[in-house]
Amino acid sequence: MAKAEFETPELKEFPEIPAIQVGSMAHSKPFIAKAEFQEDLGFPGELPDDWKDKVIAKMGELLKKYRSLQVYLDSCVKCGACTDKCHYFLGTGDPKNMPVARQDLLRAVYRRYFTFAGKYFPKLVGAVDLTKEVLDDWYSYFHQCSQCRRCSVFCPYGIDTAEVSMAAREILDSIGMGQKYCNEIIGKVYKIGNNLGLPGPALIDTMEGLEEEVKDDTGIDVKYPVDVVGADVLLVTPSADFFAEPHVDGLIGYGKVFHQAGISWTVSSHASEAANFGMFIGSYDNMRKVAMRIREAAIELKVKRIVIGECGHAWRVAYSFLNTLAGPFDFLDPKYPVPQHIVEVTHDLIQRGALNFDKSANDHLRITFHDSCNVARASRMGNMPGGQFKLPREVIKAVANNFFDMAPETIHESTFCCGGGGGLLTDDLMELRVKGAMPRMQALKQVVDDHDVNHLVAICAICKSQFSKTLPYYNFPMHMIGSLHALVSNAIQLGTKE
Ligand code: SF4
Ligand code: SF4
Repeated sequence: MAKAEFETPELKEFPEIPAIQVGSMAHSKPFIAKAEFQEDLGFPGELPDDWKDKVIAKMGELLKKYRSLQVYLDSCVKCGACTDKCHYFLGTGDPKNMPVARQDLLRAVYRRYFTFAGKYFPKLVGAVDLTKEVLDDWYSYFHQCSQCRRCSVFCPYGIDTAEVSMAAREILDSIGMGQKYCNEIIGKVYKIGNNLGLPGPALIDTMEGLEEEVKDDTGIDVKYPVDVVGADVLLVTPSADFFAEPHVDGLIGYGKVFHQAGISWTVSSHASEAANFGMFIGSYDNMRKVAMRIREAAIELKVKRIVIGECGHAWRVAYSFLNTLAGPFDFLDPKYPVPQHIVEVTHDLIQRGALNFDKSANDHLRITFHDSCNVARASRMGNMPGGQFKLPREVIKAVANNFFDMAPETIHESTFCCGGGGGLLTDDLMELRVKGAMPRMQALKQVVDDHDVNHLVAICAICKSQFSKTLPYYNFPMHMIGSLHALVSNAIQLGTKE
């Protein structure tokens, strides 16, 4: 088991409501981005003297821009339905991690400066003055929300705490209180094209290495192309897929699927990143700049369709916003939705009998599936009937014999976040990540106990990275987590090895 300076929560039966521990996570906050990285993104390098005026002005701007924000701040009736629905509350017991309490951090300031009652009778309506302590609380607790939207499923008014967190982070960025992890990564995408800072030649080397690996393994020449003009498909995938375990096995699988289906494809060195961390900092300007690279690559490479790899928030941004941020995509083939998800592509090919599998290749695995929040809940319908709840399960069942779902109350729309989403996948937040993973680990333990499951599949790069780190804290093997397309890769029958 991994060593830690904090206690890993005990796994009990779901649902367990924790004992309240006031302020237990007040110390948890991510590193602040250095001035140069803030400035790269158009934010001030440090807290300005007039930060208070700027916060109020920014809040006013956002309230005008996003009508939903004002509705969310006005409409909570304190019914309490959301209080025990956040994995960070369940894992930490800190009451400020109850969704309603998190919203209240912003709501109390909103009331003080933007409502009649809050201006004249602040105590009566829970309005508070904006102080540095309040600002520090925002920085801490709005970085303890993975923007997973689980709480909104249970709110009778549909209040979406993720949107409140995004607004709070947008305000914080506007006064130079941006988070290091996200802002530095967005800067790398601007300068180099991907989160990892992987330059074009390294990308080509990596893809050539994959071709050799697949050739050695299968005897077949499967291509992993970069910057091929005129390919049918532009694949935009998280850069983790290019080399890190367990992601890269998924990329190998995508290549095998395209190969067997006879679909020409390419990745782009200009847009070699599906992730769009602009969403995590609530900045549509930065989200748009990242999204525009996909448009530019699609035009330059003259492709007919855009397919997104296994990445949760990338799919949410692409599915919900790509057309608005970077459209119109009227130069693509109208036969295909813009964008498509790789699971939709593979599922469709399976339905049409275009892929051959030997399911016994996965017989050593007893598999369960983690519904990643941003693929499942945030963009659940996708482009095909059944959406992202049904499709991944059907693909798993087409390529493997042993599949077992987790407990019904922890999957589909009420799926628990892995604990590392929303820009929190950074080592400076490890305590939060481990504690926030607890509800998902409870559901995993149950399916392991009931069905001897030994393999956990996800279709999100962040979930896979998060589980690689957090599984050992709960005494599960680190390598238990894998890509869905790694299973496809194992089972697909490309031909006879020479
Ligand atoms: S969006 Fe997710 S992480 Fe944020 S408060 Fe709601 S349940 Fe918690
Ligand atoms: S469920 Fe909705 S209305 Fe009820 S306390 Fe939570 S945010 Fe407020």
